[in-house]
Amino acid sequence: MLPAPAHGIAGTLWLRTLLVGGLLASCPVLGWSWGKLGHATVAEIAATQLTPAATEQVRSLLKNDLDRDQQPSGRTTLAHIASWPDEIREIAPAGTYKGWHTRANPVCSEALGACTDGHCVDQLIIHNAQILQDPAQTPRARNEALKWVVHLVGDLHMPMHSGVYGKDIQVNLEGQPTRPGTTLHQAWDNSLTKLALAGSPVVATPLPEFTSAPAADAPTQWMRETRLLSRQFVYDPLPGFSCGAELHGPVVLDLGYQQQSAPLIREQLGKAGLRLAQLLNAALR
Ligand SMILES: [Zn+2]
Repeated sequence: MLPAPAHGIAGTLWLRTLLVGGLLASCPVLGWSWGKLGHATVAEIAATQLTPAATEQVRSLLKNDLDRDQQPSGRTTLAHIASWPDEIREIAPAGTYKGWHTRANPVCSEALGACTDGHCVDQLIIHNAQILQDPAQTPRARNEALKWVVHLVGDLHMPMHSGVYGKDIQVNLEGQPTRPGTTLHQAWDNSLTKLALAGSPVVATPLPEFTSAPAADAPTQWMRETRLLSRQFVYDPLPGFSCGAELHGPVVLDLGYQQQSAPLIREQLGKAGLRLAQLLNAALR
């Protein structure tokens, strides 16, 4: 069993992790990639925190959901649709959605990364939440806005989607088969997330701060917070890292690095789920 989060972000332990036998075994996302597991985890947590009104609107908005080929998808839950923006990217011309799922905020400065035409993770959450809450929009527009919001709130809380340093480098994970070409970003999205979720699902308990309507710029605030965590957990423990130094791969992520990442990833997934519910409850009244 993984240790409970103990790194004391903001001094509050608002997320508890429990060993709930069998939940993962019955989870419909098995067989998907682990990136999808992270997104489905966020969506499943959010679904447990929705108001009755938001639950009903989600059900209605997903009633005629379409897959990436514009065919009826049969998908009815937030977890089912949580990776749709990744799916449409796979079949779109290269570069169509470049930068939409991230924002390259430097971890060594206060500046924010570029956001060309509003196409970056925090601004797209804000934009799509506005479409979602607007009854004058078409059902299809609101359906797609829902799918973007669900996915991007998860992405924003993955540390390297909100804070980066230099170019992505090649890494190897101690104790794991060497997979040539694996980058630091891929390791955080997939291998480290898989390790963090092994054994027990994340169970998030909302404190009052997660039940009020979020501020208009809340996604940008969440992104700035995540950037700090990227610095603290992705880069500071990385061999050879200091602000101004050039990073060279491949770098070995040793067992200590991996173990440190697990409680953070669990806490981020839980936090993303609670904040996603905050957004949806405010938009779908
Ligand atoms: Zn994504």
